[in-house]
Order: sequence, then structure tokens, then C-alpha cells
Amino acid sequence: MGICRGGRLAAVSSCGPHFGEEDVLVGTGGSGTIFFAYCNLSCEFCQNCEISQEGDGDEVSAGELAGMMLELQRRGCHNINLVSPSHFVPQFLEALAVAAEKGLTLPVVYNTGGYDSPETLDLLDQ
Ligand code: SF4
Repeated sequence: MGICRGGRLAAVSSCGPHFGEEDVLVGTGGSGTIFFAYCNLSCEFCQNCEISQEGDGDEVSAGELAGMMLELQRRGCHNINLVSPSHFVPQFLEALAVAAEKGLTLPVVYNTGGYDSPETLDLLDQ
């Protein structure tokens, strides 16, 4: 990943309402899912290896990632669902601040394999 003026880059594979999550997350409007490219694990049985291991996705700035979250809210999603975000937490937090300033009010689902470092969890705690 590189650095761009105005923020660090994350890589996003896809973004949109998702109806395949648990019912409590999906509701009627869907879960506002952002699939990040790459993953901090490399499971042999991964169903999304093109994304998690081959990095299928596009680089986005903090402003662009914030725009994705706001668009998911505008489309009626019930939450922002971050899939495999562990390696992009600093970028996400930067984008979240921008999105919140512009009116994002949805709760965030942190959807990981559960192997997050204490340093990453500390960042999320702040
Ligand atoms: S944690 Fe999930 S997304 Fe990541 S490699 Fe394993 S199965 Fe794939």
C-alpha cells in the first residue's frame, strides 16, 4: 500500500448491502458490507481467496472510504460491516472520523477471524 495526500490508502474489494449475514445484522435493508482486500490470516479453506490472499480490490483514500460508508447509510443499511479489516484499522479510523463528521450514525460491525493484535485492539479502544 502507498501513501497519498490527505490520508493513507486502504484496499477495498467490494462494498454494498449484504443479505447473507446473520438475520440480526441484515434486517430489511441489509448489512452495509465493506470487503477489504487481503486478510491477516491465510486460511487454506477460505472461500474468498481471490480477495483475502490475492488482494483483488482497489486502493481508496480515507475520504473515499468515508464516502462508501455514507452511501451505505443512504441506501438504508443497518450497519457498517467491515470484513477482514484488521490490517486496515488505522485507515478505517481515519475514514470513520471523516464519515462521522459528515453524518454517519450507523453502528460498526468489526468482522474478523478473531486474530487481532493487542495493538490493533488498543487502537479500536481509543
Ligand atoms: S480469516 Fe476468513 S477471510 Fe481471512 S483467510 Fe481466513 S477464511 Fe479467508
